[in-house]
Amino acid sequence: MSKSISQVPFAVNEPVRAYEPGSYEVKSLLAAYKAMWKTKFDIPMIIGGKEVTTGNTVRLQSPHDHKHDLGVYHQGDMSHVEDAINTALAAKDKWNAMGWEHRAAIFLKAADLIAGPYRDTINAATMIGQSKNVHQTEIDAACEFIDFLRFNVEFMTEIYSEQPISDAGIWNRVEYRPLEGFCFAVTPFNFTAISGNLPTCMAMMGNVVVWKPSDKQVLSAKVIMDVLKEAGLPDGVINMIFTDGKETADKVLSHPDFAGLHFTGSTRVFQSMWKQIGENIQNYKTYPRIVGETGGKDFVMVHPSAEVDGVATALIRGAFEYQGQKCSAASRAYIPKSLWKEVKKSMEAQMKTIKMGSPEDPSNFINAVIDKVAFDRCKGYIERAEKSKESKIIFGGNCDDKKGWFIEPTVILTENPQYESLREEIFGPILSIYVYQDEDWTETLKLVDETSPYSLTGSIFAQDRYAIDEAYKALENAAGNFYINDKPTGAVVGQQPFGGARASGTNDKAGSKMNLMRWTSVRSIKETFVTPKNYKYPYLG
Ligand code: NAD
Repeated sequence: MSKSISQVPFAVNEPVRAYEPGSYEVKSLLAAYKAMWKTKFDIPMIIGGKEVTTGNTVRLQSPHDHKHDLGVYHQGDMSHVEDAINTALAAKDKWNAMGWEHRAAIFLKAADLIAGPYRDTINAATMIGQSKNVHQTEIDAACEFIDFLRFNVEFMTEIYSEQPISDAGIWNRVEYRPLEGFCFAVTPFNFTAISGNLPTCMAMMGNVVVWKPSDKQVLSAKVIMDVLKEAGLPDGVINMIFTDGKETADKVLSHPDFAGLHFTGSTRVFQSMWKQIGENIQNYKTYPRIVGETGGKDFVMVHPSAEVDGVATALIRGAFEYQGQKCSAASRAYIPKSLWKEVKKSMEAQMKTIKMGSPEDPSNFINAVIDKVAFDRCKGYIERAEKSKESKIIFGGNCDDKKGWFIEPTVILTENPQYESLREEIFGPILSIYVYQDEDWTETLKLVDETSPYSLTGSIFAQDRYAIDEAYKALENAAGNFYINDKPTGAVVGQQPFGGARASGTNDKAGSKMNLMRWTSVRSIKETFVTPKNYKYPYLG
């Protein structure tokens, strides 16, 4: 068979479409939205490439119009989990035996399908199923997912080409094997790109995967499987099941062939899974890899030297885009007294123009939160802030669930630096602000560092370079993604590898070589060309 050392295409970030009013691209996307909106879906699980229906159907809901009939998806039980595991294991040898170039080609083709013929489809599915506006869906479902696929292919080849040195008379090599067994991907509702990345990056490294998407992201998950099928992903390599999270985890995490968990979601669920893995540790054939990216309580720390309008804009975009349902969303801000009046004025002027409603109208900056649970949780924080003597609502605060789960962008001002909304992850369009005395800058940095158990993202705003340096050092462990004079959201694959530490996750940086390394098990090979024929070393005389 002919041989070569192939080079993959150089990865560049997918350009983000602007969707300006009246443009061809916005018309095309909205046409796809309208067509999809009228469709009555009947979405099966996909196990071994086969569509699996159970008759146990669950209604698909659109967050901004929860009564609208979008059809159903089929929910599976533990027999389907078992089937998905066995199917993955059966697909393993053939998938692993295939040259990596073919794996690369499949995922590069998937990226091109999303960039081209599937772009409107995956974007429309994300708009409808997860209530994202045209910009939010474009940067997620299209661009970030495309970037994950293209950059990971490049990172994979960089990993494969990393080799040890060799001494005289010997040749050392390393080989990058997939993990022994099957992998488990569990994904959140809030990013189609994450949902696609978690199973595909494990598969790219030669692994076979059981993938359980969130029950609130089924529509765009279906599109991901359609794309992968068209891209040529062999049956059984990624198996998508719609099953109960807890029961599925019980079944998968007690299986002797379980080899790796790639999770993104809440801290609570991740910790429960880690515990289960610990309890099962003696049953596994190999120590499983555990990667989890979880919650955040992301901060914006403002110095008296900061530019006011820049701060106000970063707070509005950082806290309210996608209704604050980004793990990186700004949810607590610390503003010096000397700037507060001006920052408030600038926020007020900008927030007056914000529109909220269906993503079908691209002029809506804010859409709905994902479901009733999220709506009730946000409403609870707002109601308690209204009643509390320690806090007041200074912007927003209205909640309306008649048609969709709408929470108005809300700002809570509190005098208590330990107030609940400054400490806890809310995951909604609610920003809490604490105004500090300018002379307390250094102590406030400590407060920022110590107020929450998380360490995902954070921003510092200042023009004074000494202040930036001080914050940079004081907040060294307060955020896995640290921003200077920018909002804490919007990490781009290949540019700002993403992930946090402390209670925010294992910080294995999605969309980077560091993450892919977790899905491979290295074999070192030493070959000696002329083998010694006597045990005696020179020192033995
Ligand atoms: P979630 O934890 O509720 O659900 C995540 C996944 O876990 C879903 O597929 C869900 O069905 C499954 N699940 C639920 N209970 C389970 C259980 N007991 N055992 C096993 N699986 C279970 O999270 P979500 O609401 O989908 O997403 C929001 C959360 O995700 C937020 O906390 C957010 O900060 C976090 N998040 C983090 C990042 C990051 O990169 N750090 C990115 C996106 C989201």
